[in-house]
Amino acid sequence: MRVLLLLLVSLTVISQEDLSHYKKAMTFKSSWTLYKNAPDNYASYKAFSKSIEDLEASEIKAAAYAYSILGAYFQNKVEYGAITHQKLSDLSQEIGDDKWQGFCRVEQFGDECSVCEGSSEKKRACKKCNGTKTCRNGECRKGQIISLEKIDGKFEEVSTDCSICEASGFCQACGGSGVYKIPCNICRGFGYLLNKMKVREKFKDGLVDMDALVANHILEGFSQDQLAKGKIKRGDRWYTLEEINKMDKSSQLKAERSMLEQRKREQNQRTGELRAKRDKKFNSLENDSILEPEKAKKIIENDFSDEADPVKINLLNIYLKQANLIIKATESENKGLELEAIKLLKEAQKIRDHEVLRSRIRKLKLENLGL
Ligand SMILES: [Zn+2]
Ligand SMILES: [Zn+2]
Ligand SMILES: [Zn+2]
Repeated sequence: MRVLLLLLVSLTVISQEDLSHYKKAMTFKSSWTLYKNAPDNYASYKAFSKSIEDLEASEIKAAAYAYSILGAYFQNKVEYGAITHQKLSDLSQEIGDDKWQGFCRVEQFGDECSVCEGSSEKKRACKKCNGTKTCRNGECRKGQIISLEKIDGKFEEVSTDCSICEASGFCQACGGSGVYKIPCNICRGFGYLLNKMKVREKFKDGLVDMDALVANHILEGFSQDQLAKGKIKRGDRWYTLEEINKMDKSSQLKAERSMLEQRKREQNQRTGELRAKRDKKFNSLENDSILEPEKAKKIIENDFSDEADPVKINLLNIYLKQANLIIKATESENKGLELEAIKLLKEAQKIRDHEVLRSRIRKLKLENLGL
């Protein structure tokens, strides 16, 4: 049981370690920060160079290689720089970006070696011929060896090819140049000497870009971890599916609530408008019941049949009564029953003391009397 538990615990630890791209990015950042502040320090250069190998093929890795190459130059280890430069060019090809290759090209940091004058070699006098350039065979004359031979009783000069120089007459060791070349020991065969001031200037040149890449790398690492945990990005933040669902639900509720409120507001507005319209109608009834009794009657019967306010009901009854009396009076008038009409108008006037009615009664009376 204990073993199983231990196994389980270690499995969890491994899978979490696997997940933490963020942690790795942070580790890389700290080695970068250390190195950036002390590029001349061998330990920081070494640690930084080592940390690069954990990076995945990407622009940050290319940039880091370039900076590692500068570090090699600071350490006078041009050959390390050359090895790393090879890695950088392979990587550049892989990711299709050679921006950082030019950044650290060694030629730009060199001053010509004053000893070999840039040829990267030194000449020494040939040890075989001591610089004479000629064949070391003492009997060799321009590649020929002359001997005297007795032919037909006479001595004659006979020349044969020198086997040492193969008849060239030159020193075989130096090919007749009289010198041999060795790599320059001052520049170690590079032909130039690194100027660390130039390296330092270059180091400063790319810092902003490199820092941005490091910061981005951390963000990316964090995102990768979140994705691996099955989280989802919303805006700048990461959420679990559960949280997303919860947020969606609550925002849906919120939307529904605000829709309801909007509807209520619209409803209230409509109700308010209707009420204002009704009030206007109600107020005009006072006049309408006298001037347009038919219309007033219709409005009271149709539009105010549901009126609940007792004060208003009372007034509506008065208006209705008045309108009815005036309608009847008008009918009497038309039939020539002026007295009947006057009576009805007076009754209507009694309900509500109205100047319009009084003047109508007066008019009817005068006409009736023929005045
Ligand atoms: Zn040299
Ligand atoms: Zn020689
Ligand atoms: Zn010879």
